[in-house]
Amino acid sequence: MIKAKGIAALKSKEALVPYSFERRDPKEYDVVLDIKYSGICHSDKHMTRDEWGFGAAFPMVPGHEIAGIVKTVVSKVTKYKIGDRVGVGCMVDSCRECAHCKEDMEQYCISGNTLTYGSLEKDGSTITQGGYSDVIVVNEDFVLRIPDNLPLDKAAPLLCAGITTYSPLNHWKTGPGKKVAVMGLGGLGHMAVKLAKAMGAEVTVLSGSVSKEQDAKKLGADYFLFTKESGVFQGNALRFDLIINTISSADLNMAEYFGLLKMDGTLVSVGAPEKPLSIHPFPLIMMRRNFAGSVIGSIKETQEMLDFCGKHNITPEIELIQPKQVNEAYARVLNSDIRYRFVIDMGKI
Ligand code: NAP
Ligand code: ZN
Ligand code: ZN
Repeated sequence: MIKAKGIAALKSKEALVPYSFERRDPKEYDVVLDIKYSGICHSDKHMTRDEWGFGAAFPMVPGHEIAGIVKTVVSKVTKYKIGDRVGVGCMVDSCRECAHCKEDMEQYCISGNTLTYGSLEKDGSTITQGGYSDVIVVNEDFVLRIPDNLPLDKAAPLLCAGITTYSPLNHWKTGPGKKVAVMGLGGLGHMAVKLAKAMGAEVTVLSGSVSKEQDAKKLGADYFLFTKESGVFQGNALRFDLIINTISSADLNMAEYFGLLKMDGTLVSVGAPEKPLSIHPFPLIMMRRNFAGSVIGSIKETQEMLDFCGKHNITPEIELIQPKQVNEAYARVLNSDIRYRFVIDMGKI
């Protein structure tokens, strides 16, 4: 076994604390990574507080935005060598046999993929532990290559915030001539702005924080709509082809947002709030609008996204913190006080 040092929630809703644990010995197709940086996703907060009612396993080492360097490769590994700059995202395995896995859509694995933390390994007994740690052992098929021009600390959040927004933008054919709106300017939202802009769309931010207007423009948004301003929804009815909802709360009047879509337009929720969204179908019925969801992206698409970011020099705006600052950072995530992603310097653990 490999000794690992990390930060864990020992119980739901408790502060995170230093935690020592063990990783499996690498198997023949495994890569061992020295974790350098780990992003803090809002999902980590949902998971450590068990807000989704999964009956999450504790102790839990969160973290699924991992960037590091290959430390060891085992006999049959062909894709990576020692010293490579690599990342690991939200999944570390899947069944590889179902129709979705065979079509490079293992994020939709029919029997359920193995999440990077809080999930059961294929051995049926080991609980996975995530990236708020110094080392991880991952099958080479679930390891991504980070382009040389992207610094590792800034590349980390691409492994979740980047792919979770790239995938629906890509699926719903974002490009020149398309009007895209992004609900919520947080970790995911600010990546959606950068990516949609690089894909050639006209981009509008829909935010409840008026103070983010300057940032939205700096990030590349063409327009900013303050959603608490009176008349803003009526004044922008039938405007967008695609809306990406990244908001972490369910406290939303969805009918107002649906009203912003053109006929046949689509609103995709990637935000995964603790409570259910309340939806009346009328605004969908009346303009044949679509309401959809999307989860992360496949390994193939994640590599494509990383290469796209490398080509266009796209990285998130990050605040680098020390491992001991993680609880302070969680409190700020809860208050939407982050511009726009915390990344933990795991070399300092
Ligand atoms: P984040 O950085 O905390 O950003 C969320 C944004 O939502 C905030 O910046 C804020 O934007 C808005 N917001 C927060 N509380 C709100 C409230 N009470 N009412 C209205 N708006 C509010 O979170 P994130 O890391 O981007 O994650 C966003 C959501 O996506 C989370 O639920 C997360 O679990 C989920 N997620 C899903 C996937 C997937 O695969 N589908 C992957 C990763 C994350 P403004 O200040 O601009 O209003
Ligand atoms: Zn995430
Ligand atoms: Zn599968």
